[in-house]
Amino acid sequence: MHYITILFEKMYERTKGSILEAESTIRLRGYSPQSWAPSEFQDLKLPVNAIAYAICPTSRDTYFYSVKDMEAEQTWERYTGRVIDAMYRIIHNACKDYADSNGARDFDIYSHLLEQADDLVDQALRKHQSVLRKLDPKPAEADVTTFAQDLKKIVIFEALITAAWMNFELARQRDTNPGHIYQEYFDFNMDLGLTASHQGFKSPATPDFIYRHKVIGDIKSGDWHQSLEYTVVAYALAYEEHTRLDMDFGVILHVELPSSRRVPGHYNTNLIYLDDDKRIRFLALRNRKLEIVASGNDPGIPADKDECDPGCPFLSFCWGD
Ligand code: SF4
Repeated sequence: MHYITILFEKMYERTKGSILEAESTIRLRGYSPQSWAPSEFQDLKLPVNAIAYAICPTSRDTYFYSVKDMEAEQTWERYTGRVIDAMYRIIHNACKDYADSNGARDFDIYSHLLEQADDLVDQALRKHQSVLRKLDPKPAEADVTTFAQDLKKIVIFEALITAAWMNFELARQRDTNPGHIYQEYFDFNMDLGLTASHQGFKSPATPDFIYRHKVIGDIKSGDWHQSLEYTVVAYALAYEEHTRLDMDFGVILHVELPSSRRVPGHYNTNLIYLDDDKRIRFLALRNRKLEIVASGNDPGIPADKDECDPGCPFLSFCWGD
């Protein structure tokens, strides 16, 4: 996640701040009634993820979740996604605790995280071990072991990035405090609960993080789809309705597990300007989904199974295998 700090600073430097500080052209804000759900749907509230998930060609997932009250099947992909989310939160908190409680003289966050790496991975795995136990079919032992090794590579990668940035700043500033540097450059708020009932979102809407009050973010793993960006559009609208403050940028921290390399892949992770076109497309999707729930009609399956996401948790319901 601390990769976002580097990304942000690089973009700031490359554009001399112009992209991040230019006057916004966005008009469709979460606090303005033009973005609100149509009044006939005002009593309907759906989780942000249920609305923003746009991979089903017919939006049948929404029908299952919100009309039939069905639970999505737990899958290995969903389990690993949850653990990865937890892993980043645990690493961030461990870094913050260390930076807040150690002075510049002996500051060595890299060694500290390396010593803690196995324990941090265990913490993340323990959080969702009940989900792992329920998976059917059970994952192969080798996959479980490889996943734990990949999590450790994530810890080491985050440790390297954090240490490099902290050490650079400590070398640059004579009188400074590591806790202050950490707060300035790794300012991730990961405890947001937003209320955005006009948007038709169930409360609380919980983005994975907000970086420096400027970028709203979500952590995703698994296959990349451009439509994942809907998630941060939704959270930006929720943030704007909740706070009445503008949110112009989003980021999906897309994590491809390292497996054959030493670092995770973040190839699809970029700062995204959440312009009106993206907002209009998302609002059309939201209204379509609210309409499915209001009517209670099953939108059915697409003509071909190939149109479905192989990671969809409803594959067996829709296609019977
Ligand atoms: S299996 Fe296909 S049709 Fe069914 S919910 Fe998933 S993506 Fe939609």
